[in-house]
Amino acid sequence: MPAVRSVETRIFEDPANPQLVVAVTADDGVRGVGECWWGTYRPSLPPGAPVRPIRSVIDELLAPQVVGRDAEDPGALAEVMEAETSQYGDGIVRAAISGIDIALWDSIARRDGIPIVELLGGQALASIPVYASLDWLGEEAAVRHDARAAVAAGFGGVKLHEHDPALVATARDEVGPGVAVMVDVGGRFDATAAVDAARAYAASGVEWLEEPVAGLRDHQALAVVRAGSPVPIGAGENEYTVDGFRRMIAAGAVDVLQPEISKFGGLTPALEVARIAAAGGVALCPHNFSMGPSFFASLQWALATPGASWLEMPWLPGHPGFPGGIAPPPIDAGAVALPEAPGLGLPEWFYRSWE
Ligand SMILES: [Mg+2]
Repeated sequence: MPAVRSVETRIFEDPANPQLVVAVTADDGVRGVGECWWGTYRPSLPPGAPVRPIRSVIDELLAPQVVGRDAEDPGALAEVMEAETSQYGDGIVRAAISGIDIALWDSIARRDGIPIVELLGGQALASIPVYASLDWLGEEAAVRHDARAAVAAGFGGVKLHEHDPALVATARDEVGPGVAVMVDVGGRFDATAAVDAARAYAASGVEWLEEPVAGLRDHQALAVVRAGSPVPIGAGENEYTVDGFRRMIAAGAVDVLQPEISKFGGLTPALEVARIAAAGGVALCPHNFSMGPSFFASLQWALATPGASWLEMPWLPGHPGFPGGIAPPPIDAGAVALPEAPGLGLPEWFYRSWE
C-alpha cells in the first residue's frame, strides 16, 4: 500500500483572486493535486490573505494526520480529517479537506493512468455544456461587450451578476435566442422582491435565477421564491456538507443544485451529492470560479453524472486562466470534453513544478 509521504500547500497570487493548491505525494512518488475554495476576495486585503486561514488548517491540523496513512483510501482519510476537525465547524475546515481529498483522487487515478471519471463509475456524458460566468459589470455597453465575447469564445451560455432586469434584457438581445442566459443576484433580495425580480427576468427567457435571497442557506425562503417564480431557482454553492444538500432539496429550495467541489469536501462526497440531486429530481450544475485543479475536478464529476447539465467557467477579462499557468480546456460546440491526461486531466509539468 502506498502511504502519503507529504502534503504541501502553495498559494498562487492573482489580481483577481489568490488560489490555494495542495499537492499530496505518496511514498511511491506518485503525486496528485487539489484545490481549496479561494475565500472571499477583497482588493483591500493583503496578497494571499483570503486563503491563508485555509492553508493553516491544512498545514497545522490535517497534514500531520494524513501523512503516513494509506494513500489509496480517500474515504478513510476523509473520516480521519473530519474527526480531527469536528470541533471547528464547517466553512474553512471543509474547504481545507476538499483540497486534500481532490489531490488524493488525482493521485490514485494517475497511478493507474486513468481519468478520475473512471473511478466515479465511468463516463456518463460525452461532454458537459459550459457557461461563461461574467464579472459584475453594471452597465449596458459592458454587458453587451462581454456577452458577445463569451459567445465568440464558444460558450453556450452566459451568466450575469446583475440584478437590473433591463441589463438582463440587454444580454438576451445581444446573445440571441440560441444562447442560455443565467442571472446570479448573489443573495440580494428578500423573498417577495425575489419573486418580483424573477417575473421581470422571465421576459428575457432566463435559464435560472441564482441565490435570490439574502440568507444564502435559508432553504425555507428559497422554497417560497421557487413556488412563486416563473423561472427555475438555483443555489448550493454555499452549502458545505452532504447533509446541507439533502436538507436543501428536501425543503424544495432549488431546481438547479450548484455544489462547489472545493467547499463541500471534494470528490469523496461528490457521488452522494449527485445521487441526492438525482433522487430529488434537480439538475446538477457544479459551481466553479477557478480554472485550476478544482475546475478539472468538477469537470470529471460532471462527466460522470447523467443529471449534470451545465458547468460554470469564470470569464473575467484579462484573467481567462489559472494563475498557475494551466490553460483552460478547449470549448467545442458550447461544451467541454474529457481531457486526455490521466487523473484530473492536468498537464504533467504542473506536477513536476512541485519537485
Ligand atoms: Mg453564484
